[in-house]
This record gives sequence, C-alpha cells and structure tokens, in this order.
Amino acid sequence: MTDASNTPTGNHGAPGASAKAFVCGWPITHSRSPLIHGYWLKQYGIAGSYEKIAVEPGTLDRLIDRLRAGEFAGGNVTIPHKEEALRLVDEADAAARAIGAVNTLFVRDGRVAGTNTDWFGFAANLDRQVPDWTDAASGDRCAPRSRALVIGAGGAARGILYALIGRGFNHIHLVNRTVEKAEALAAEFSRGTARVVATGFETLSELAPSIDLLVNTSSMGMVGQPAMAQPLLDLIAGFPGHAVVADIVYVPLETGLLAAARAHGLRTADGLGMLLHQAVPGFEKWFGVRPEVSEGLRHHVLADLAEKQA
Ligand code: NAP
Repeated sequence: MTDASNTPTGNHGAPGASAKAFVCGWPITHSRSPLIHGYWLKQYGIAGSYEKIAVEPGTLDRLIDRLRAGEFAGGNVTIPHKEEALRLVDEADAAARAIGAVNTLFVRDGRVAGTNTDWFGFAANLDRQVPDWTDAASGDRCAPRSRALVIGAGGAARGILYALIGRGFNHIHLVNRTVEKAEALAAEFSRGTARVVATGFETLSELAPSIDLLVNTSSMGMVGQPAMAQPLLDLIAGFPGHAVVADIVYVPLETGLLAAARAHGLRTADGLGMLLHQAVPGFEKWFGVRPEVSEGLRHHVLADLAEKQA
C-alpha cells in the first residue's frame, strides 16, 4: 500500500499494458478490488499494476493531481471519497451525476473523468444470473414486469434506482428505516415515466402480489449487522412465481433474504456478481482489455471471503 502524498515516479497514465491503476479509500485495507483486478492482470498477461492507496479524508485532491500529472491511467474510489470525487473531477458522466458519486476515475486528454459503475454491475449481474429479469431488455417498454420494491435508501440504493429506471421499471416502491431518506430519494429519482414512491411497511403486504423484483440495498443481513426485518421476509410468500429477489449484500453470499426466496421457489441474484461486474468498465479503460467475469474469478474472491471469515 502507498500513501496518497507520494510523488509521481514515471508516466503510467496512458491506458494499456503497463498502465498503473489504484483503489483509494480510508481505510482501504479491506477492499476486494485488488483481488479482482490482480486476477485479471494475471489472466490476460498484462504487466500493469493495481494498488491500494490510503487517502485521508480531505486529501483526495492530491491524488487527483497525480492522475492529471500522468502517473496513473485511473483508479477506483471507495468510502468515504465517492461524493467528493464527483466534485473534484474535470468531467463526470450522466450516471455519476445522477447517482451523486464517482467510483471509477480515468484520464482522458489530460483531464480526469469520473463515472459510476455500480448500476452497471448490478444490471450486468442480473442479466447473467436471471436473463429475463426485465422485459424492458426486449425493448417492450409497456411490459408487465415493471414493478420493483427496493429496501434501503443509502448510497448503494442510488445506483440501483438508476439501473432499474434505465431498464424500464416504472413503478418503484422504496422502503427504508428512516422514512425521510426514502422520501427524499423518491422525489429525486421520480422523473419522466418513472415513479418512485416512498412506501410505508404497513402497505407492503397489499403490494406483494404485484411485485416483479425485490432488491435489498440496505446493510440488513450482512455479517455483523442486524438480520433482515421479519415483516420484509414474510412478504416473499405473497410474491408471484415469476418474481426475482436480489440482494447486494455479499457477506454472507446467501443472505437470509435469498434463502427465504429460494425456499419459495423464486429466482435470486446474489451481491457478489454486482461487485465483480462493476469492475469490468474500469479495467477495460485502464488496461485496454474487456475482462470476463468468470467462474474462476468468482471462486477466487469467494475463497478470500471464506478465509477472512474463518
Ligand atoms: P449506507 O449508505 O450506509 O446505507 C445503509 C442502508 O441500510 C440505509 O438505508 C439504512 O437505513 C439501512 N440500514 C442499516 N442498518 C439498518 C437496520 N438495522 N435496520 C434497517 N435498515 C438499516 O450503505 P450503502 O453504501 O448503501 O451499502 C449498503 C449495503 O450494500 C452494504 O451492506 C454494502 O456492503 C452493500 N453494497 C454492496 C455492493 C456490491 O457490489 N455488491 C456495492 C455497494 C454496497 P437508514 O437510512 O434508516 O439508516
């Protein structure tokens, strides 16, 4: 691991085989991104590098300057810097602006560009694990499968809402412990034909038969966090048979929510796939190869997760 205040040591800013990339955060020790990008660098025989950089809060601008100076081709940004990165980049795309956070940086014509790939990772994982999760994928914008229920209104929920609206879900119910946060997010993301409604727990059982997709974006069910709330687990029994249940929590891989959905015969998508797929666009931009999310990569990351939990 290196420190953000290090001075540049050569020019590796051009994308390609010897490019340098990083993940920055505070703390950064637990990031799984080096595991993913390191696997791909080895698989594709690329001599580039991907390192962890510890960046103290309030000092991200120094690392962005190192990018502008040509030291790196780009990098990932994680907690707590994603929102600040959006303010500091020279340009941000529509996804980053709508989500309000940047998780991937790259250099274009000497300018630092920011994007957000979480929404892409979520959608690409669903495309892989449950190919017909949205009829919008077939181009039928009036498809009946368009009603989603989203649990949580934190940072991750923003990327999920962006993905769902982009894929044609036009009725989205948002349920969150802190109702005001769900209301604020619903107001921000409701536009065009998309309706996002902050929904109270009391009305959820009436809605259950019309839910096509449930996504947990909250930290409930994660190791070390409270279990998924029982009233939300109970809803699953009322879902239609075609409903899909996705959890973005990936430690454990099979959360209580996913186990309950499987017990009712519903199709599910776990959170590890989102983590792996969100890394694809960055790797391609920095190293010039579009990497594959393979079973081998999945096992590589799973083995590490199992080791850390043991
Ligand atoms: P965040 O901004 O801190 O938001 C946490 C959300 O969980 C909020 O909606 C919060 O509700 C809710 N919550 C927390 N504890 C709760 C409890 N005891 N009961 C009910 N609700 C509770 O976190 P985040 O960045 O959105 O991340 C959320 C989860 O997604 C984490 O587990 C993270 O690891 C996972 N994640 C996975 C991926 C992936 O690639 N698979 C990517 C990003 C995040 P309040 O608003 O009421 O506080």
